[in-house]
Amino acid sequence: MQHPVIIIGAGPIGLAAAANAAERGMDFVVLEAGPDAGSTVGEWAHVRLFSSWFELIDPAARRLLEAAGTWPAPESDAYPTGREWRTAYLQPLADLLHATAGGSVRYDSRVVGVGRAGRDLMVDSGRENDPFAVHVEGPQGRERLLGSAVVDASGTWTRPNPLGADGYPALGETENAARITYGIPDFRDPVVAARYAGKHVAVAGKGASAQGVLVGLARLAREDAATRVSWLLRRPSVGDAFGGGDNDQLEQRGKLGQDARAAATSGLVTNVTQFRTQSVTAQDDGRLSITSGTGQQISDVDEVIVVTGFRPDFGFLSEVRLDLDPALGATRVLADQIHPDHHSCGDVAPHGYRELAQPEQGLYLVGMKSYGRAPSFLAMTGYEQVRSVMAALDGDLEAAGRVELVLPETGVCNGAGAFDEADAAALSSAGGGCCGPAAAEPQLITLGRVSE
Ligand SMILES: Cc1cc2nc3c(=O)[nH]c(=O)nc-3n(C[C@H](O)[C@H](O)[C@H](O)COP(=O)(O)OP(=O)(O)OC[C@H]3O[C@@H](n4cnc5c(N)ncnc54)[C@H](O)[C@@H]3O)c2cc1C
Repeated sequence: MQHPVIIIGAGPIGLAAAANAAERGMDFVVLEAGPDAGSTVGEWAHVRLFSSWFELIDPAARRLLEAAGTWPAPESDAYPTGREWRTAYLQPLADLLHATAGGSVRYDSRVVGVGRAGRDLMVDSGRENDPFAVHVEGPQGRERLLGSAVVDASGTWTRPNPLGADGYPALGETENAARITYGIPDFRDPVVAARYAGKHVAVAGKGASAQGVLVGLARLAREDAATRVSWLLRRPSVGDAFGGGDNDQLEQRGKLGQDARAAATSGLVTNVTQFRTQSVTAQDDGRLSITSGTGQQISDVDEVIVVTGFRPDFGFLSEVRLDLDPALGATRVLADQIHPDHHSCGDVAPHGYRELAQPEQGLYLVGMKSYGRAPSFLAMTGYEQVRSVMAALDGDLEAAGRVELVLPETGVCNGAGAFDEADAAALSSAGGGCCGPAAAEPQLITLGRVSE
């Protein structure tokens, strides 16, 4: 290939793509906006994952690291925190890839545009024969790199959904940003704890991460009785937030789910259902008042924590041709299988380069970003995606079509929120996720093969 494959993002999936490229002897450049590997994982460093190390290390990356002979492989059945995922795996992998002939991993390099060299979105002629032009902003200013292909593994973490129920920031949300946090605060950090202890905190969101926040706040409330928590839910009942009916697998989630349910029903948390935020206003005393579309008000709020999910950034893809699901913004053929309304963990069909291909030949959206706004992405799924995509880019269609999605027998769900060893132990005993009974050891199963 005349130009390297350009990989956007040095997260778990971008680095796995690079590991596959390195194994195949392909030239590659990884462009990472942050200052080091896994920088968005670093933003939830304190959160313990639901997946064990076995599920969090890409097979090609493992082979490279083990061959280098200096990598202390983590215990397969342990559950790392985000911090451990970075320091014990992602950063050593990135360092190794950067030292690989034909490869480089560049930090502080934010991709701001992907297009075809010399051809904007409208131009048809010769489109697929020209390289990609990737515009990057870094310490040296603006740069333009040419690539034979682009693998976008930029994730979704950098674009949290707003508090506003319309999908846009609520009126006053931006103006009152100083009291609003998006993500999962580390309540074990004394500075963070001091920010929330003894305060009235509103939490918006219903997923496992939101539930992890509730558990952390309930713990604070037990230590400081002045702490008040209002849990804002769009749905009609709290019970519903933990699962639908009798068959809902969330019933079987480990200790996190149980603790969140206990917190929500303990009296430490006030549950506010059918609340769709329309505006946020500052009271005279500086605290916030949050108003719903029906006029309901939550007053005297000191802090708001928004955990309402994430959305992909398509801003830098405006000059390439995409085919996305209109609701999820996910790769279109995956949408039915990953929609939160009907997706159950682990039941995504095996998929690879064919399903991930975009109308723009040579462009692939992989990893968390391939799921758009759907929350159920698993690293293992992403590792299989990039194994297939990189094989296809290498012209090895036999390997690319041979999808071997390997999952542990229990399945594992996204959306961690466990904060400590006790929670991790509970996760272990509960099977590590929400998908059924525990298996004694993770087991490999080949789920299927994409037909030629
Ligand atoms: C709290 C939490 C817990 C999770 N727990 C699990 C779990 O237990 N098991 C599991 O399998 N999955 C889990 N996931 C889901 C998923 O595996 C992770 O989110 C994973 O980090 C996704 O990897 P990624 O490489 O697709 O995206 P990311 O890890 O987000 O990496 C994307 C990278 O791209 C960079 N980037 C973004 N924009 C640009 C740009 N324009 N230019 C250059 N670089 C850019 C970012 O800085 C980042 O480093 C969890 C997710 C969250 C949020």
